[in-house]
This record gives sequence, C-alpha cells and structure tokens, in this order.
Amino acid sequence: MKKALILPLLLLVFASYSEASRLSSVNGFRTKSYKNHSRIIVELDRSVEFTNNRLSKPDRLYFDLKNCMLQKKAVRLMQVDDGILKTVRVAQFDKNTVRLVLESGKTKSFYAFILENPYRLVIDVYDQRNAEPAYNQRNENIVPDLGEIKKIVIDPGHGGDDPGAIGPNGIQEKDIVLSVGKKLGDILTAKYEAEVIFTRNKDIFIPLNERTETANSKKADLFISIHANASPKKDTRGIETYFLNWTDDKEAMKVAARENKISFKKMEKVQGDLQMILQDLKRKNKNEESMKLASSIQNAMVSTLKENYSKIQDLGVKYAWFYVLIGAEMPSILVEISFVSNNEEEKRLAEDAYKDKIAEAIASGINSYITQSTLIVKKMNKGI
Ligand SMILES: [Zn+2]
Repeated sequence: MKKALILPLLLLVFASYSEASRLSSVNGFRTKSYKNHSRIIVELDRSVEFTNNRLSKPDRLYFDLKNCMLQKKAVRLMQVDDGILKTVRVAQFDKNTVRLVLESGKTKSFYAFILENPYRLVIDVYDQRNAEPAYNQRNENIVPDLGEIKKIVIDPGHGGDDPGAIGPNGIQEKDIVLSVGKKLGDILTAKYEAEVIFTRNKDIFIPLNERTETANSKKADLFISIHANASPKKDTRGIETYFLNWTDDKEAMKVAARENKISFKKMEKVQGDLQMILQDLKRKNKNEESMKLASSIQNAMVSTLKENYSKIQDLGVKYAWFYVLIGAEMPSILVEISFVSNNEEEKRLAEDAYKDKIAEAIASGINSYITQSTLIVKKMNKGI
C-alpha cells in the first residue's frame, strides 16, 4: 500500500522538478546603436523558441520567449533613445514566458535570430523597410559588424630593450610589429567599431606574462599577438600563425624558443613540464576557438597579400608553447607576419603599403572568425 502511494508522489515531485529545470534562464539584455540599426542582445543559457508581434499607440514590437524564466538580477528597462528605439523592457509575462518589449517609432523592419556560444537572442531593428540583415557579409553595402566581440587586445611583441629579431639591414621587429599593431587598431575601431586595448602602444618593454594579464583583467574577447619571424636560413620566408599547444615540431619549437627568449633545450624542458597541465590550459585558452581564429587570420593574410605581392608563402597554422599566450582566458593567437631575416621581406616590412595590407588582412581574418563562429542561426524571424 505504502509503496503505491509514494511512487505517484515521487513522480509528481520529479515531474515538477524537471519542468522547472527545462526553463531557460534569461540573464538580461543589452543594446548597441549602429548607423542604420539598433541591436538588442538577450542573454540566454540555451536556445529558445520565440514569437513576435506588433502593438500600436505607442508603436512597439514585442517578443515572447517560450519556456523562460527571467533572472532576478536582470535589468528590466533601458532607455535607448537612439532615433530608432526609445526604450527596451523585459518582464516575466506569465509562468513560462518572458516578454521583451521594444518601443520604437513607426514601420521599422527587424531581424531576430538565435546565436550560439554563448546562447543569445539578437534583434536588429532598422529605421527603414526591407533592410538587409547586418550580419550578411556577402552584401557589400552592409557595414562590417563584429557582432558580440567587442574588446580586442592587440599585443605588438617585444619593445624597449628587447628589439626582437633584427634584419640584415637593421630593421627591428619591435618597430614593425608596433606599426602593424597600430594600423590594425585603427581599422578595428574605425571600420568594425571594436574596442581595442593595446598591451603597448609605444616603444616600451612589457614582460610576457603581463600582456595576457592585461587581456584577462579587461575581460577581452580576443588576444592578438603580432610578431615578425627570423631564421638563420636567409631564403626562409612566409607567414605563419600560432596558437598554444604542445608540439613535437622542432621548427615550431625554435620559433617559440626565440619568442620566449629561451634556448631550444630549455624550450624542450619547459614543454615537458607544462604537458601535465595541458588539459587545463587548453580549456582556459579556448583551444578550439584559438585554432579557428588562427586559421581565419592565416587564410586572410595569405589571400590578401597574394593579391598584391609575389612569392607569398603560406607556412600554415601551427602550435607551440608561447609564454605570451599561456594564461590567456580568451581565444588567443600569435601571428608571424613575415621574416625580417629575408632580404625581400625585410624590404617589404619597411614599407607602409605592405604593413597596411597586413593590418587589413588581420582585421578581416578576425571578422571572418567571428562571423563563422557566431552565425549558427537556429531560427530567424523577419518582420516589417
Ligand atoms: Zn617576436
């Protein structure tokens, strides 16, 4: 008898528990204003179904997020007043529905879609009818958009007492990479509206570990370390991009040893010691993402430079233990833009036009990484 009573009770408790656990949590929202559209980003912990509708007097759009629970600490109301949106507010509409209300002017078109990694509902509201979605990179009329990735750390290698590699005609790595870093910063800010943080923007020495600490403490989204390569073989040339990982590739280890300012022998030993904590580092460093970022940048570099210069060599994406990447808590890469030890590449590195192209290529590599990694559109609503 007893057993018969307990079982339905247990089932009931279990059923209501699992229903609660099925609710997705809405952690808050933020907004960003662009030239021709406003963006609302709703932070979620998983993908959600949503519907949308329009109300008038005053004109407003609303989105109902199904099976959602609004977190207590979430911001409820935001005054936007950017000419497209007036206010955005969010509330628990009923037990399972969170409603987002956008108060706007008249006849705005919008696109709403779910992005992953992390999950979020993105709503782009336009000030005209039939606007193209901002993320549609194929349409050249659309302003490039780095989407969610806002803070990018640019780390020009070396500096101060540390010149880095020196070319046969005396060109110093520290000067070249600072110049490319600044150009990259200008492009990311002006063209892509990103926030850029420099580990150094003048000729000073910064220890390797402090560079990632800056990125971590500022909660940066990406870390880009810029270097120029060197080889005892004068005819060695080309571009390669690294992310952090264990390697038994001797050439990659030599590059890392030079950048780490330690001997090849010590490099081998360090790597052996660090292998034990590899798994943890891989997780923290977002290894998969770093690899994708590295290949986007490498591909963009090679294709952009090949369009304008002869004998551009693609040395590929590689990995090794670079001190400057250890400890970075965001996708992080190190790009070796060319060889200062090669006569022709040294000459090119001295020219502004070549450095401009490199900076443009790195920026476009960053942009295509972001576009690929975030554009997993689960569901898209379009409305006018
Ligand atoms: Zn370097």
